[in-house]
Amino acid sequence: MTTRQSQDDVEAAYRASLARGHLSFQRCACTEAWLPPREQCPRCLRADFRWEEASGRARLISWVVYHRAYDDAFADRLPYCVAVVELDEGPRLVSNIVGAADPEALQIEQPLQLRVELERGIPVPRFTQQDIPESTAS
Ligand SMILES: [Zn+2]
Repeated sequence: MTTRQSQDDVEAAYRASLARGHLSFQRCACTEAWLPPREQCPRCLRADFRWEEASGRARLISWVVYHRAYDDAFADRLPYCVAVVELDEGPRLVSNIVGAADPEALQIEQPLQLRVELERGIPVPRFTQQDIPESTAS
């Protein structure tokens, strides 16, 4: 029998994973995997899930580039990118693409790599453009 976890419990588990530098998501017995953390499966509504650690590999689904800060806290980041990212394992999340030399050059389906960063002391999942191995052909 599975002990049902509260929303606070699942969020605490998620944050603890991030604090260790990992991004974890939940996977249900029905195989559905999801983010953000929640008490029950969004597909079958059962609370029979396990935690899995994401590989960190992902792809870019959609994004916007902000050139104006609607909150002073973001003024020093301009331009910054808010994106929908899909993990290789399936779950999608809203995040930021960081370190892009030219955010206007991002491309749909572009490979991304997880980077856990501290935001005012709180670990948050962000993504960078994945290094594409250069050809070894000579
Ligand atoms: Zn399910």
